[in-house]
Parts: sequence; structure tokens; C-alpha cells
Amino acid sequence: MKTFASPLALAALALASATAHAGDVPPALGQRADTALEEDRHAWDFTEGLTTEVGPRQAGTEAEARGREWAMAWLREHGFANVASEPFAMETWVPGDIARARITQPFAQDLVVLPLGNSAATPEGGVEGELVHFRNVDELRAAPAGSLEGKIAYISHAMRPAQDGSHYGFAGPARWVGAGIAAQKGAIATVIKSVGTDYHRNPHTGGTTFPDGIAPIPAAAMSLPDADNVERMFARAADGDGRRAIRLRLELNPRELGETTSGNVVGEIVGRNPGLPPVLLACHIDSWWNSPGAFDDAAGCGIIAAAALHASRDEQPLRTIRVLMAGAEETGLWGSKAYSAAHLDEPIAVGLESDFGADRIWRFESNFRGTNADLHARLAKAVARFGVADSPVVATGGADLDVVRDQKGALIDLQQDGLRYFDLHHTPDDTLDKIDPAQLRQNVAVWTQVVGILANEPRAILNGSPEPSAPPVMDR
Ligand code: ZN
Ligand code: ZN
Repeated sequence: MKTFASPLALAALALASATAHAGDVPPALGQRADTALEEDRHAWDFTEGLTTEVGPRQAGTEAEARGREWAMAWLREHGFANVASEPFAMETWVPGDIARARITQPFAQDLVVLPLGNSAATPEGGVEGELVHFRNVDELRAAPAGSLEGKIAYISHAMRPAQDGSHYGFAGPARWVGAGIAAQKGAIATVIKSVGTDYHRNPHTGGTTFPDGIAPIPAAAMSLPDADNVERMFARAADGDGRRAIRLRLELNPRELGETTSGNVVGEIVGRNPGLPPVLLACHIDSWWNSPGAFDDAAGCGIIAAAALHASRDEQPLRTIRVLMAGAEETGLWGSKAYSAAHLDEPIAVGLESDFGADRIWRFESNFRGTNADLHARLAKAVARFGVADSPVVATGGADLDVVRDQKGALIDLQQDGLRYFDLHHTPDDTLDKIDPAQLRQNVAVWTQVVGILANEPRAILNGSPEPSAPPVMDR
């Protein structure tokens, strides 16, 4: 485990902020962040409580509803005002309890798989077909129409861990769109190499999508060790005289529950001037069914709630700080869309989201570096002492910030270290023990510093149009 500042260093930092000059962060705001680094308990308390008392929180189900109730009780207990759940309707998919895969020839053996969100069920007993290997989605796209009739597509990729998580953009499409493309070419099912970087025998689930007019087919992810095994089988089957077909039998029993109700949990630290647009802090309350979602995204909710409390400690902020713990993020950003539809007309000063685990923040990004250079510079300077670098990358905001994107508003991304994230993402391993308390506190300190400055900023945050950015890669 790693700590980020000794008590001695913290004392030196406090001294440095006390002697700050004009244009710098007011000493009280710096002090609150320093205290959060040293002694925050709120983020851990939230994360530990939600993962222990509620556990897995599949979107649209009774378990997610218990998660909302738990979060609302926590927010009220800690002094948040206007705590509520804003309900919305959604189409709900549940995974069922059968996920079996077996190579039937030439090297018969069982494989470890889980269904992908929105997967269709197989008939009882499963479907069986020849497995066709595509090294990535582009290869699958290039397959001739009808060439997968009666067959099962297998989609690989070569995802690598990266501090900025950038390989998700490369590997993610295998899961996001692979099954839909295979279905269009006649496939009876799709299995993918899990979009992940660990070598545990844990499949990584996650949502997949089917184009309009294309009926869903069964779609599953296999663990990376199983996927490597299958790829070795392909290599051997291609050797020698003539190619031997590899056949797979897959059995899954997910189902659609139809329309159910989910909700967005909100709570506020009301500002001295509630007429000013609020600062919006987002996370999501749901998780996949196969883990208590400690990294994804109980910790994110813990971090934003803790930061709202620290940033307003001892002094009411100028602007309202609103937390949005969105529902049903994983299965299709239902909560983000519903929140935007309901609140599009209420201007928001700036939006930030925590949804990339609980490891340390290393990079600061905004979409107003050019239009409000003074504020960007003040924020970047204020977080530098926590080991956070300024970045020219334009912030795009998290998945639950549709409302801010739809308003073309101000966004900040406090980028977390993603080297471990895709070891755990959407696996049964996403549990509380993976969270390093010291790194969690560093998150809270950085958020406290940034939120404190934003919530006490009297002028417009964005000061113009958002800067152009690449489209966001959403965590789903
Ligand atoms: Zn997430
Ligand atoms: Zn997720």
C-alpha cells in the first residue's frame, strides 16, 4: 500500500497554503482538502456500507432499489438536503442462472463464460455450431453477408492495461457491437474474449447492443485463460492436413423482464446563493449482478459524497453542490438519459463524474482551458500538490453527465489511474478488499479541492462554448 503524504508533509502543505498569494486557492479550501487526504472516512464508509449491506445491484431490479434506499438514508444521515429518488422507466434484462460453454470437438472440454447484458437466451440444452475466429471487430465487419449462417462468432482482441484506460476504446467494441454485427451476418451466437486485462478465470460481463430490426442472439464473454485456450485450439486445428472445425455448445438463460422502474438518487449541499447554477457531481449506483461493484461504482459514489461534505465543512459554499447517483448506467445509461430529459432546462455550472475505480487521480482535464484559462490554471495548480498533472486533453465527462453534454456545459475529468481497473471491471473480483484506503483518500482530497473552488466561483465556469473533443468512451 502506498501513502501520499506524511503528517510532516501535510503540515508543510498547510503552511504553504496559508502563505498563498493572490489568485491562489483560499487557505481554508486547501486546508479542507489536506484534512480529507489525512483522515477522510466518508468515502470508505459509503463504499463499505453499500457493498456489505446491499451487494450486487443489477439495474432495474429489487436489489438496485435497495441500493437507492441505502444511499438516500446515508445522504440524509450525513446532512444532505433535498434527498430524493427521481424514478424512470426502463427495459430490464436479467442474467438467469445458466451459463455453460463446451468445446465439443476436436478438443472437448468446458469453458467458463457469462452472458453479456442484452444477450438472448439459447433454447434449453443450448445451441451448437462451428466457431469462427475473428481477431477483432474490424475482421468481423469484413466477413461476407450470410457467411456466419448457423455458426458462432468468436471475437478476440489484444487489450493491454494502460494508465489512461485507453485500450478500452480499442477492445471494447468486441463487446459493445460484436454480437449485433455477427447477428446481421447470420450467426446463431457470439462469444468474445472478455474485455479485461486479468488472468483469473473470471469472465468480464458488460452490455452489448443489437441494431434496430436485428433480433438479439445469445452473447457471452469467456475468461481470458479460456479465450487463450480456444485460440491455441484454432492454431492447432489449422495445422496439418486440412482444417478441422472447432465446435462450441453454448447455453444461457437470461431474460427480459419488460418495463420496470429504476431511479436517480439526488441530494444537495445547498449554497448561499441557490439561484446560481449548481455544481453537479455524478456516479452510478447500479452494478452488474456478478459483483458488489466496489470499484464500479460504489467507490465513485463514496468519493463524490465525501467531497461534497468536506468542501462545505465549516462554511456554506456559494453555489449548491448536487450529487447525482444515477440508476441503471450499466445496461444502457437509462438514468443519465432520464436525468437529462427531466433537467435539461435547469442550467448546471459544471459537471464531474467518478466512475473509474478508486486508484489515485493523476491527471486534470477540463473543456474550458482556452475559454476560462484563469480558472483552469487555478484548479490545476491547486491539485498539483496531490500529484495530479495538468493536461491539454479536453474533458468529455462521465457516462451519467448527459445533461451537461446536452446543455453544452462545463466538464472536468479527474482521471484515475486505470492500470488495475480492467483486471476487476465487471468481474466477481470487484470487491471491497481491492480498494486501497490511501488512494481512496487521495481521490477525496483532489475532489474536495476542485469542488471547493468550483462551488465558491462567482463567475460562469465555462465562459464560452465547450472545446472540441473526441467522443467519450463510456464505462459500461
Ligand atoms: Zn461504471
Ligand atoms: Zn461498469
